[in-house]
Amino acid sequence: MHDLEPNLAPVYYSGQLFVGSRHTTNPLAISKKIFDIFLSNGGKYIKENVKNVLQKENCVEVFLENKQVEFDEMILCAGAWSNNIANMVGENFPLDTERGYHVLFETEQQLINRPIAWSESGFYLIQIDDGVRAAGTVEIAGLTKPPNKKRTQMIENQSRKLLPQLGKVKSTWMGRRPTLPDAKPIIGRSINNKNIFYAFGHQHIGWTLAAVTGKVIDSLVKESTTNIDISSFHPSRFR
Ligand SMILES: Cc1cc2nc3c(=O)[nH]c(=O)nc-3n(C[C@H](O)[C@H](O)[C@H](O)COP(=O)(O)OP(=O)(O)OC[C@H]3O[C@@H](n4cnc5c(N)ncnc54)[C@H](O)[C@@H]3O)c2cc1C
Repeated sequence: MHDLEPNLAPVYYSGQLFVGSRHTTNPLAISKKIFDIFLSNGGKYIKENVKNVLQKENCVEVFLENKQVEFDEMILCAGAWSNNIANMVGENFPLDTERGYHVLFETEQQLINRPIAWSESGFYLIQIDDGVRAAGTVEIAGLTKPPNKKRTQMIENQSRKLLPQLGKVKSTWMGRRPTLPDAKPIIGRSINNKNIFYAFGHQHIGWTLAAVTGKVIDSLVKESTTNIDISSFHPSRFR
């Protein structure tokens, strides 16, 4: 381990190397690129809260803050908040949140060469373009509770034990991973609402799987065969 990651403090007895794994050093840039492709293909972005949804005879009416818009189809992909919107159309899923925390450290140097997890603390350290990112832990805590500052403090303390060279904390945040009891997403056409598709519940890997699910949903809306078997993600499985 020392040969691979010489800056790591010797707090370990042994480690496990995942050969062939991939990661990004700028998740925001990739997300923006996907978003730009959406816009350049004619997609339109309306930044408003969905207040209500109505399945009509052959379309869906979406109630925004100040207006109502009708769509041929609606794809519900509101992460941890998806069940709030599903409830608006009479459906309910056992969706909860696995809250996770993020601490970004300043650093001038390349400190680590790959994502590094410290299993006893439940988070990963990754060198990204903005610094060293420490992110993880799991807190099942729903949608409304305030962030628990002890978690970011723990991540900071443990990160400094692993990498004493870390600089100042640049930013912290808490995010909500949308998770179902079987840890699989809900992907497919709604049972009760024929113009609504579901695409949520991707728990710890929703960023990685966004494009994969997007491709599946594209096929479903066009009523063509999906490129992967999605039967175990069926919206009716918790009934
Ligand atoms: C600390 C942490 C680290 C993570 N690390 C990774 C990682 O390394 N790799 C990975 O693949 N995944 C990672 N994840 C998981 C990933 O972030 C989630 O799986 C992913 O964000 C889910 O994407 P989503 O688009 O379904 O939901 P979100 O990204 O939560 O987006 C949902 C959107 O819906 C909007 N919304 C909600 N309600 C409404 C409404 N009524 N009207 C309008 N809009 C609404 C919200 O504002 C939000 O913009 C991590 C998560 C956390 C918390």
